[in-house]
Order: sequence, then C-alpha cells, then structure tokens
Amino acid sequence: MQRLTAVPPLPIARGQGPWLYDTAGQRYFDANSSWWVNLFGHADAGINAALRAQLDTLPHVMLAGCTHAPAVELAERLSALTGGVLGHAFYASDGASAVEIALKMSFHAWRNQGRPAKREFVCVEHGYHGETLGALAVTDVAVFRDAYDPLLMRAHRVRSPDARQARAGETAAEVAARALEDVRRLFEDRHEHIAAFIVEPLVQCAAGMAMHDATYVRGLRALCDTYEIHLIADEIAVGCGRSGSFFAFEQAAANGEAPIWPDFICLSKGISGGYLPLSLVLSRDAIYRVFLDDEVARGFLHSHSYTGNALACRAALAVLDRFEQDDVLAGNRVRAAALSTALAPLAEDVRLEHLRQRGMIWAIDVREAFAGERFAERFHLAGRRHELLIRPIGRSVYLMPPYVVDDELAHWLAERLRATLDAVLETPTTPRSPDAAAAPDPATA
Ligand SMILES: *Cc1c(COP(=O)(O)O)cnc(C)c1O
Repeated sequence: MQRLTAVPPLPIARGQGPWLYDTAGQRYFDANSSWWVNLFGHADAGINAALRAQLDTLPHVMLAGCTHAPAVELAERLSALTGGVLGHAFYASDGASAVEIALKMSFHAWRNQGRPAKREFVCVEHGYHGETLGALAVTDVAVFRDAYDPLLMRAHRVRSPDARQARAGETAAEVAARALEDVRRLFEDRHEHIAAFIVEPLVQCAAGMAMHDATYVRGLRALCDTYEIHLIADEIAVGCGRSGSFFAFEQAAANGEAPIWPDFICLSKGISGGYLPLSLVLSRDAIYRVFLDDEVARGFLHSHSYTGNALACRAALAVLDRFEQDDVLAGNRVRAAALSTALAPLAEDVRLEHLRQRGMIWAIDVREAFAGERFAERFHLAGRRHELLIRPIGRSVYLMPPYVVDDELAHWLAERLRATLDAVLETPTTPRSPDAAAAPDPATA
C-alpha cells in the first residue's frame, strides 16, 4: 500500500487475446498471463461460448450429495491424460487448497494404513506452494513466509536442484544428482516419519523461474518408491502445457522408457484458462481405496462451498477441447521456438546471465552490478511505457505469455524487452567485450 503512489495500479477496462487495455485505451501485452493463469488470451471466443451455455444451464450446485456433468467429465478426461494412473480427482477452488488437500490426504492415507508416524513433509529450497498455513509450511520464499513462521508446522527442506548453481563445466544433471543425494540422506534417516515429498516439477516458478534437469524428478520418483514416501507434484503453475508437455511430470521418464507418475498432482491456475478459480488433486487408486470405510472418520473429509463449481469445470473442459482440437502442445513447440530465436541475442548481453527456457517459460537474470535499487519495480514501470505488463521476480526477468505468440509477436517482445532493459539498467562500468557472451544455461540445452 505504501508504494501505491509510486506504482499506481493499472485500471484495466478490457482484455482481448494477449492484450489488456486500460481505461484510457492504452494497450499492454500480458507477459505473465495474469499470474500464470491465462492460456489462450483474454475473452477467448471458445471459452466464452462454453461458459454462456453453462450459465444458462447450471451455474453451480453443491458437490455433496449431488453431481453434475462438467465435474464428472473433467475428472474422467484428466484421468485419461494420466493413462488412468491418477484415476481419482478431488475438487477445490484454488491452488493453496489443492496443496492442503494433498498434504492432508497423504498423512491420512498413511494413518489409515496403520502408519500414523508418517506425518512429516519434505519440500525443496525456494519452493512455493501457496500461502495458507499448511501450504506456507512447505513454502520457502522468505517474503511470504517469515512473518508467519511461528505459526507453521515444521517441514524438512532439501537443497534446490536449480541448474544455475552449476559450477564451471558442471551439467544440470550433475547439479540434480547432488540435490538428489541430499534427499536420499534425509529419507534414509527419517523415512519412517515422512509422509510425502512435494515438488514443483521442472520449474520452481515463484523462485524466479528456477529450472532443473528432468533427472531430478525421475530420481525423486525412485527414492520415494524405495523409501515408501508419497510424491506430490505441484503442477499448479507448470501444468496445462506450460512446460512443453501437458503435465510437466511427463518429461521425467527416461527416453523410450515407460511413463512414470507421481502419487498426487495438484492442478489449478491454467486449468480454467485463466477464467475462474478451480483446482483439483489427482491421485492413485491405491490411495483412494484406503479411505473406503464404513467409519466416517476414516474417510477423507475436506469441503469448500464452491468445490467443483460447474462454470469453472465447464471452462476447464473448453480448455481440454482446445488442446485436442488445435494440438496445442505441437503449436507450443513452434511458439516456444519463436521465443527462443527472437530472444537469443540477449544471451550475449554482458548485463545479463542465465538465459533459460522450458516450453512456454522464458527467463534471464540481470547481473547484480547492473540492476540497481528496486529493480523489479522500476522494470515493471518502464515496461508499462513500452506496452508490456511484466513483473520480474527479484532480478529475474521472465515471460510466461498466453499460447498465442507467433514469430512477429516474439520479435516485438524481444524488441520491447531490450528497450525496457536499456531504460532501466545502470550504465555498464565494464566495457563490453565480444567474448563475454554467456554460455547457454544447461537447463535449456
Ligand atoms: C500459484 C501457485 C500456488 C498457489 O495457488 P493459489 O491459487 O494462488 O493459491 C501453489 N503452487 C504453485 C507452484 C503455484 O505457482
């Protein structure tokens, strides 16, 4: 609130495609998809039509003692996307609640199996899982967490597999292997007490688009199997095609090997196309079955008033229709390549480092010497003057655009990004040398 005068909120009047228009008619490119939720642009004709039809049929009914077609169909189609492995869906309305549900369900499943000592959770350094008390307990972002730390349950935190930690000559896979060794040691020591490990597969978004090698996720699956620990994939940000596959976890399988899956997947954000709050927790049949009991207390009791909202489920079905009809994943490979090509020259800018990309997430870091005070805020404000709605995380500048970027738009974005950087960055004190070009980040190799 204290910064409102310096950074007045943009009064947005309407949105169309990737563009937002303020009340004065000025346009802005929604470079972070309105906090990573929007997939196909604003006011999408297909999703709008599906919502209008649902609005005239059934906007909402409680999902207790009642059921409705959009909730059933959505659960069935998401289950099918996991090959039926995660064949059960539990509905809620936001990402943090999905995380709460996965944590509660994991603990309760172990208790129902006669293992109540398994009540601890493990999370990854710099991870983000939401800001309710349970989700915050497995979140490691100081700015959100520190004030509430005295209220939080204690979780184990293991080192981050962030590929930016690579030492000279080290690959992203080697960084991942070091991080996995940390997990193995903890599991060896505490597995009798650990219920679940929660991870953001491939990209820790709120950490500043910290990317890691897929072998990390594969290694986690193996360790969780060995030590009988549930693996929770928080795909709230990286799911729905953002990382290159529908679920980021799909990239964890070794080339040519059978697919592997976590025990829980949390989905939210993009699942409704950026229209309405909706979240789901997908889980395996083995977990579902340990809750089937005549005794109510052995069932999984967790309810929200708007659980499985019909409008939100209908929007999600329109999103899945789009994935099928337009082959969005194939289109995103082309769009991601357009972004890579247009933005590649920034890797040679001595003021920047760690250019990285995973599917439709692109990021680069401003070196500390060039960032200056309040970099993120100044960059955001300068971005507005260049028709960009963009919000760096610390010194990480990133693009997480709606899935509509073609060559032309990619070049426009590169040009505006460069102009915004030039407007904001401190004048280099070291002369620019031709061979100072940063090597490509291992995460993008
Ligand atoms: C956004 C996010 C959440 C929390 O979702 P909300 O709907 O904001 O509560 C949890 N995990 C990840 C990885 C996220 O990006």
